[in-house]
Amino acid sequence: MPIYGLEIKATLENIQKLYAPINMFWRIRFKCLSCSELGKNQLEFSALDECKAGKAKFNVASRCQFCGRLRSLDIVQKSENPYVFEDSGSFKMIIQFDCRGMEPVEYTPGDGWVAEAADSGEVFNNIDLMEKEWVEYDSNLQRPVGIYGLEYKFTK
Ligand SMILES: [Zn+2]
Repeated sequence: MPIYGLEIKATLENIQKLYAPINMFWRIRFKCLSCSELGKNQLEFSALDECKAGKAKFNVASRCQFCGRLRSLDIVQKSENPYVFEDSGSFKMIIQFDCRGMEPVEYTPGDGWVAEAADSGEVFNNIDLMEKEWVEYDSNLQRPVGIYGLEYKFTK
């Protein structure tokens, strides 16, 4: 069962750590490996979701809209990795997906991210990275904090 990693790259300004909490909703478009069609819609799921497929349970169980094949996915437990200041400007794997019958091709970053400011440790919740950047103000240290130029890629 192929494991796909989602890697991100960004520039962090006065941010020590950026991470996705356990209840993060991942929005990803998949390609069906039976008929090679790209899904019309993204699938949206979290590590807390449970879908039944027969007797088995997965985070996602979804039929292909074209060939009808049942595909499934599990977020690999404990694969979540924070993106830290030292990673700034480089790709780093932040989560892994165990996919059966489909392959991730397109990730849409959204809200739900958490960041911790460098030095002050101030925590910012529910950050939205849809615009691929985010800017705020560290009220303790009176300086800007930000995340810029978010990029992603899937690796196998
Ligand atoms: Zn298909």
